Amino acid sequence: MHELSIATAIVEQAEEIARADGTDRVTAVTVRVGELAGVVPDALHFAFEVARDGTALAGARLVVEQVTARAWCGGCAQEFAVGMPPFFWCPACDRPSQELRCGRELEISGLEG
Ligand SMILES: [Zn+2]
Repeated sequence: MHELSIATAIVEQAEEIARADGTDRVTAVTVRVGELAGVVPDALHFAFEVARDGTALAGARLVVEQVTARAWCGGCAQEFAVGMPPFFWCPACDRPSQELRCGRELEISGLEG
């Protein structure tokens, strides 16, 4: 299950941030997860409960912020949601686009402690 290695990385990174802030206990961690990051939120929550054991995040809550995948259309200079499964075709001018602007994020955006 690759969510476990992702959850472990999140816990390690959050511990580092907390340590740098002089915090020894984290109560909540917020992560931004793009629609195309290939992460199943339910599986990530489950993996987080395993990964946080025995760390500064032992009692922490995981908050997942989902980010909609959006591509840029050069033809009409605007972004559009690619949907899921992704469809890289501008709905406004009916042209293909491969320029993904967001949707692959997997990062910590906030920490409470
Ligand atoms: Zn367009």
